Amino acid sequence: MEDMFKFADELGPFKIIHVYEPSVGLKAVLVVDNVARGPAIGGVRIAPDVSTEECFRLARAMTLKNAASDLPFGGGKVVIYGDPKMPLEKKSQLLRALASALRYTEEYIFAPDMGTDEVCMACIKDEIGRVVGLPCDMGGLPLDEVGATGWGLFHSTEVALQYCDLELKGARVVIQGFGAVGKHVARFLAQKGAVLVGVADSRGAVHNPEGLDVDALIRLKDEGKSVLDYPYGEKLGRDAIVAVPCDVWIPAARPDVINESNVHLLNTKLVVEGANIPITEGAEKILYEKGILYVPDFIANAGGVICAASEYQGVTLCTAFDLIEEKVRNNTAQVLEAAKTRGILPREAAVELAKVRVKRAMKYRRWSIFSSAPGFV
Ligand code: NAD
Repeated sequence: MEDMFKFADELGPFKIIHVYEPSVGLKAVLVVDNVARGPAIGGVRIAPDVSTEECFRLARAMTLKNAASDLPFGGGKVVIYGDPKMPLEKKSQLLRALASALRYTEEYIFAPDMGTDEVCMACIKDEIGRVVGLPCDMGGLPLDEVGATGWGLFHSTEVALQYCDLELKGARVVIQGFGAVGKHVARFLAQKGAVLVGVADSRGAVHNPEGLDVDALIRLKDEGKSVLDYPYGEKLGRDAIVAVPCDVWIPAARPDVINESNVHLLNTKLVVEGANIPITEGAEKILYEKGILYVPDFIANAGGVICAASEYQGVTLCTAFDLIEEKVRNNTAQVLEAAKTRGILPREAAVELAKVRVKRAMKYRRWSIFSSAPGFV
């Protein structure tokens, strides 16, 4: 009994469901972490090496991200055990079996994550209907195509620069990762006068202190090439991007890219976290002590989830972009202000902001025993 509740804390998890369908080889776990703010939205991840614990941690991250963005949704996650590169036909079979098994678990709304995409979501829509991240043809908002997360990161950067006494115009920016997140934030920042001086993808990096042409880099990536094919700059090894001097450093690739062993190499004034958990907790602490400001991931990169929630609520793309701007700007300011005035880490301020919002919602539950939480009132 105790073991079954080993993850339990003040917020959740509310439900953990293991799904097993031997006829198609489906093994999956759903964690619905907290539903006080509304049904849980969180992605379906396909991976060979996931665990119930990891699923719980990912679901918790969604609880905090959705609450921080003040969305009327809780947090959840599904992991399916399998090869994310399996043929679409097999994937569709697993997803349909999963959707069918969770048909009546109405506290959870399906969404895409690693290993699943809009076509997968269309299969779930066809099966049970409760899903976001659909193709445009089915009323979806194409968040990666339009750069919803990049749009939020741009606004977070603009607000955070005020806390570094720097202006966006002329600010030198470095971006690690030039995919759906990285290329759009580069585009939005360049449009407002920031100068991209370094960029990396999985094959290498390019650096030019005079500035790189963002549109040319995007064209290269759209042609399936690497940033290394950009002719006007110094070519560097992939990981050398960490030390390129700049004012704003934006990780938009992988988790844990900045850790205790390389954090001292960063030569910047501000880090705006585009990827999920790109910096280990220990490294974030070191950064802040060195006087480098950072905006935590679920505050800065919430544009995608705000766009997905907007799709579920049936609003237009234009409205979704306005919502992203408003929410990400307010949250960035609130977190950095709390960090500055109370002498706490931005991560602590962000988690507190999100938890207070979840706990406030929990007080409205009929059986609630919570008294008001401290902090942001
Ligand atoms: P993507 O696959 O479109 O792009 C990833 C980019 O990172 C590619 O250019 C790839 O070449 C590069 N890359 C991979 N490993 C690298 C490395 N070690 N060094 C340098 N570059 C590397 O992915 P994405 O959708 O842009 O997501 C990037 C990150 O942001 C992920 O951590 C994702 O979880 C997170 N995120 C994405 C969204 C979204 O809306 N897509 C929202 C929130 C968070």
